Amino acid sequence: MPWPCDKGESMDLCNISVIRELMGDAGITFRKDFGQNFLINPKIPSDIADAAAHSPDTLVLEIGPGVGCLTQELAKRYKRVVAVEIDKGLIPILDKTLSEFDNVTVINDDIMKVDLPALVEKYACGMPVSVCANLPYYITTPILMRLLESGVRFEAVTVMVQNEVASRLCASAGSDDYGAISAVIAYFGEAKRLFRVNRGCFMPAPKVDSAVVRISLYREPKYTPRDERLFRNLIKFAFEMRRKTLYNALRAKLSLDNETLKEAIVSLGYGESVRGERLSVSDFVALSDRIYTDLEKNSKT
Ligand code: SAM
Repeated sequence: MPWPCDKGESMDLCNISVIRELMGDAGITFRKDFGQNFLINPKIPSDIADAAAHSPDTLVLEIGPGVGCLTQELAKRYKRVVAVEIDKGLIPILDKTLSEFDNVTVINDDIMKVDLPALVEKYACGMPVSVCANLPYYITTPILMRLLESGVRFEAVTVMVQNEVASRLCASAGSDDYGAISAVIAYFGEAKRLFRVNRGCFMPAPKVDSAVVRISLYREPKYTPRDERLFRNLIKFAFEMRRKTLYNALRAKLSLDNETLKEAIVSLGYGESVRGERLSVSDFVALSDRIYTDLEKNSKT
């Protein structure tokens, strides 16, 4: 059994017996409420870490290191790794499994509560910053939104998510998987599905397969709606009532007369019965700017 490991050699943290022994010694069990499905196929953390950033001189923020299998691979490749783990019980394990790496900092906290700009300011020292994680599935979208809306200029966000979620993150306008999250992700960057991961690669095995997605974020904002709140609301309203036409979905939500709203929709080049799922992110920006101008005109009359 590869534990204890030979000096200078990393422990095999994808080995089921090693994981069980580490957790047993620490007196903890898997926590379903924290979405703990640990990787047990060593090729996967290695492949995810390869994809995490372009330059070795990068700060990688990892969310949910678990027992540290992906953290070790990141620490071998990148200058600095900061890993945020919510489960206090895993901290003594991480102290042990990451002890040979002097470029890793583990923080026991909830990523939803961490002050991300302050954390990056403290550790990045001018380096580009990327995020890499095998995300807990119960909170995938809130975590992604928090990262993207944090104001931190992440270069890339490379994450393992449920396969169906991966399809939604990467979907183009008009496709079956396209939804509010696809449009919002496209606002911040370009999402690409890298590879699929079979459910058998995890312990405990989840009910569905996963996939790794990389979102390459725009250095400078590619889209600049005049009113970001209105733009985001339009996306939300358009997909809340997916089966309605865009006109019917928006009619009840905006204080705009029906004809003006229809004209705004038609100005995009679609018929007035178009559904929201046909609109790309640039269409939503154009629509939001047009509606913003119309609302402004209304307020002056
Ligand atoms: N990285 C490990 C791996 O690939 O085997 C574990 C991945 S597991 C799917 C998700 C990890 O995220 C768990 O370690 C869990 O405790 C942690 N986690 C869950 N919610 C979290 C949160 N809000 N903030 C930080 N870590 C969280």
